[in-house]
Amino acid sequence: MKLNWHEIDRFLTGEAWSGSLIRKHTTELADVIGPRWGGSSQDRMTAEYISNQMKTAGLDRSEIEPFEIDTWNHGSVSITLPEDNDRIIASLPFLRCKPIDLVTPLLDVGHATVHEVEELRPRLNGAIVLASISPEPFTSIEPFTARISRLADAGASAIIAIEPKTGGRMEYANSDEWLNVGPQKDAIAVVKTSSEDGAYLRRVAPNEPLIRVSVDSKYFDSEAYNTVAELEGEVYPDHHLILAGHHDTVIGTAGGNDNTSGTIGVMETARTLSVLRDVLGIRPGISIRFATWSGEEQHLQGSRAYVSRHYAEDSPQRENKPLLNINLDELSTGHMKGIVLTFPHLRKFIQGQLDTMDDGLKCHVLSHMDAHSDHFPFVEQAIDAAITWRWRFWGRHEDANFHHETGDAANKLNVRELKEYVGQLARLLLRLSHVPPNDWPVNPVTISDVNRMIERDAGRSHPTFH
Ligand SMILES: [Zn+2]
Repeated sequence: MKLNWHEIDRFLTGEAWSGSLIRKHTTELADVIGPRWGGSSQDRMTAEYISNQMKTAGLDRSEIEPFEIDTWNHGSVSITLPEDNDRIIASLPFLRCKPIDLVTPLLDVGHATVHEVEELRPRLNGAIVLASISPEPFTSIEPFTARISRLADAGASAIIAIEPKTGGRMEYANSDEWLNVGPQKDAIAVVKTSSEDGAYLRRVAPNEPLIRVSVDSKYFDSEAYNTVAELEGEVYPDHHLILAGHHDTVIGTAGGNDNTSGTIGVMETARTLSVLRDVLGIRPGISIRFATWSGEEQHLQGSRAYVSRHYAEDSPQRENKPLLNINLDELSTGHMKGIVLTFPHLRKFIQGQLDTMDDGLKCHVLSHMDAHSDHFPFVEQAIDAAITWRWRFWGRHEDANFHHETGDAANKLNVRELKEYVGQLARLLLRLSHVPPNDWPVNPVTISDVNRMIERDAGRSHPTFH
């Protein structure tokens, strides 16, 4: 089939822009439904909304796939100074923080580097300690999760972690390494305080005041919901590509940037390609699947459930693996600069396709394993998976530096840039879908190769986020 790419590009770009439902979806997801913690009733409402919208957009198939999620939630949380008129210190638990109610003298461990912890080691057993999340500036950078482990190994009972963001902002964070550790229940309790209250505690800490940390939380199982829709390929319907992003948020935030932006990126790209089929009669060659995951904020449980149900070596319903998964997460952090692969063998091939779009988009390859979003469960099965390049060292929009906090509201979604993403993703996916599967470079990566790479990188700092 001879395709007129000039006509197609003009159509997709125009439809992404002027047919856009971004405003409608933002209102529904971020303002009407609001926070969408995986396993909650809002998670279900979100999946129903997305799945219905995919049907309305004319996708060939649109389903909800429930899965069991190992989840957690918290009630009241507090940090107080009993000898300072019960002064209340700003507090927010780390995700999956265990329940605790403890009073001990406060010990300041600085940044919890090796020498700081060694110096206080004899006194750390059972103690509540104060530690900065920001790295010690003259020590090679260690993730905070590694410093949490060091304090736990030294016997500390709880950590008060000082938020690096200022102005009272506090974002939910994780206390464990995502590369090779599953959800934790027994790790040390970690509670965050604001930069300002952290500075207050640091000033009074030399007197070792009594401090009380109290967290009411519980672990439980629940049902969570992924959505999957598909545009069937007209030439190679038995092969597929996946465009996906997570629709869940952390507790208490509507997630305009993280990840209403990526969710709508998936929905709108699907709609735009569906309209192309209806108006110009042009379908994808290879099938394209459009998925939204729940449970990303809880150790990628939704995408991992999907991958293990459909693609794992021992899966009873094992299907052909996708040729490529493209993951959308936090698209308000910068405009689209290109595609970042985990394995290198597709780089030239994809760069060639990007070059035909003539938007200056680049294809890069991560030098390390990155477990921070939903491409990773695909990577674990040695499936080609990519993220979009929004920033690396430069190019990040500071006014969209919001995720995991109340301020990541609907207004953090950048409508014009999202329209550009949708047009470019639709053009790229359609191009990729019209390359016969046999012409794609063969994926030589095995699961044991991946395990070696995970081993190599676990516990090391991730330069993307600096
Ligand atoms: Zn996210």
